Amino acid sequence: MWHNKILQAAGMFLICATVASAADGELVVLPINRAKFLAGQKFDMEVELRGAKADEIKVSIGGRDVSEFFGVTPVIQSDANLSSYRLNGVALTKPGAVKVDVEAKAGGNTLRTSVDYIVAAPGSKQANNVILFIGDGMGLASRQIARILSKGITQGKYDGLLDMELLNDGMALISTSGYDSLVTDSANAASAYATGHKSVVNAMGVYENSSKDPMAHPKVENIVELVKRARGMSVGLVTTSNITDATPAAMVAHTRRRAEQNFIAGEMLKADIVLGGGSRQFLPASTPGSQRKDERNLIDEFKAAGYTFAKDRSELVSANGDKILGLFNLDNMDVYLDREVLKDPDVLRGFTNQPTLVEMTQKAIDVLSRNKNGFFLMVEGACIDKQLHAMDWERSAYDTIEFDKAVAVARKFAETDGSTLIIATADHSHGISITGTYHERDGKTGREAVRTYANAIYPTFRDADGDGYPDAPAPDVTLAVQYANHPDYYEDFKAHDKPVSPAIMSGDIAIANTKRAQDGIFYPGNIPSNESSEVHAADDVPLSAAGPGADYFMGVMDNTEVFFGIVRALGIDATKK
Ligand SMILES: [Zn+2]
Repeated sequence: MWHNKILQAAGMFLICATVASAADGELVVLPINRAKFLAGQKFDMEVELRGAKADEIKVSIGGRDVSEFFGVTPVIQSDANLSSYRLNGVALTKPGAVKVDVEAKAGGNTLRTSVDYIVAAPGSKQANNVILFIGDGMGLASRQIARILSKGITQGKYDGLLDMELLNDGMALISTSGYDSLVTDSANAASAYATGHKSVVNAMGVYENSSKDPMAHPKVENIVELVKRARGMSVGLVTTSNITDATPAAMVAHTRRRAEQNFIAGEMLKADIVLGGGSRQFLPASTPGSQRKDERNLIDEFKAAGYTFAKDRSELVSANGDKILGLFNLDNMDVYLDREVLKDPDVLRGFTNQPTLVEMTQKAIDVLSRNKNGFFLMVEGACIDKQLHAMDWERSAYDTIEFDKAVAVARKFAETDGSTLIIATADHSHGISITGTYHERDGKTGREAVRTYANAIYPTFRDADGDGYPDAPAPDVTLAVQYANHPDYYEDFKAHDKPVSPAIMSGDIAIANTKRAQDGIFYPGNIPSNESSEVHAADDVPLSAAGPGADYFMGVMDNTEVFFGIVRALGIDATKK
């Protein structure tokens, strides 16, 4: 297997990197040891001596000076506390192992280190298109909750499977950690899918150097840049969050700080179809609700660049250009339960005509599939994650079902197209688990009404209208979904009429929100007291795939391998000029 060979090769070099003692300064090489590249994938290489002034930094590959090896002039900077040697926009074109040796002279001492890279050969083209579905924060429990609510379970056997669970040509467990920390955020995680390289929390498309400037960190070419450059493919980004939020942003942008959303908004010009929330980053500062610091009107700039603009569902349905910018809310779009079921005007704040994720996905496929060079489409179910942070598993579950219906649209397209790889996965997990059911049939309430083992029986969700969503989020017997990691909060095990945060900040301390489940039980938090929401978990996440190239996904895989599965299926040759 292509990936197994690569992993075995990478495994040979586990022990090579050495770090100099702190007294002499720390020698850091970026990209990091064991980084894997697609042959021809562009990146910036940087060696930093941190904490000391280097008299000289020598970098070589196979005994050859690295600037000569790449034919690129280095940018060298040095002061008392930091020395840097950097090559911008280089690429390793020959598949196989590459060893980089570094030697730095500082204060009469010589420091040495080395890193090992692996370069993957381009695959032969199997698929014309790839659709990557990312259920943000959608761990195994989220999938299962959606399966129970949407399909039902009778006498222990499910009455059906989700569409994402019918993607059967490849399946893997994906590990999600960044190179800085066990637990990732969505920027770092999506960046691994977009580039094939690990990054650090809050970063995308870059390795982290010492710079305080979020734009000055060494970059790695991402999937959107690659499929445009190497094959002239079309690109779509679809989400229910701000379009400039971490997951869609990581497909196109390079920054150490995901909060640079005004910058990221401009980077969306790299995609052809851009659909989601977040007009606040596109409207000039003088427009109410804008978060920009300048008077640029990015909606006008996109129109000038040939995009049709859609502000609501009706305009999206009728939009017919090859490029579409659709921004359906100032901030994140509302969740399915609020948008399509409850329709509370206090929650929707005037945004009463937002499209569904299903409609956005359908439109993106309709338009992108006109390009004979193929397309790459990323569809994110963003609020699966956001609602779990808010400890509102019901809202999260309805959005997981909506996300699954978007997968169904892609499956239908792929059936007739025959040349589309579909991947459905998550970027990270949350600490939730289905521990049983909850009901008050016998008058018990609170924790005494959490039913475990035999007492759990089955929940009573019904789908009388057959739309795939439960008729009500709060049936007589509901699920007991419990959280492993939470702030101080009140729990009543019931669905909420409106989205409401579990805790609110009081200075630096998060205190339980009395507006939520006032009659419920107080649970003392079990994470640091300055955290007002439930947080991500490091659990592996499931990946399901179908179509040409899906066989790449098997066993337990690193999240960076999702990128390599995509470029392998497409047969992207990045060594071509
Ligand atoms: Zn999150």
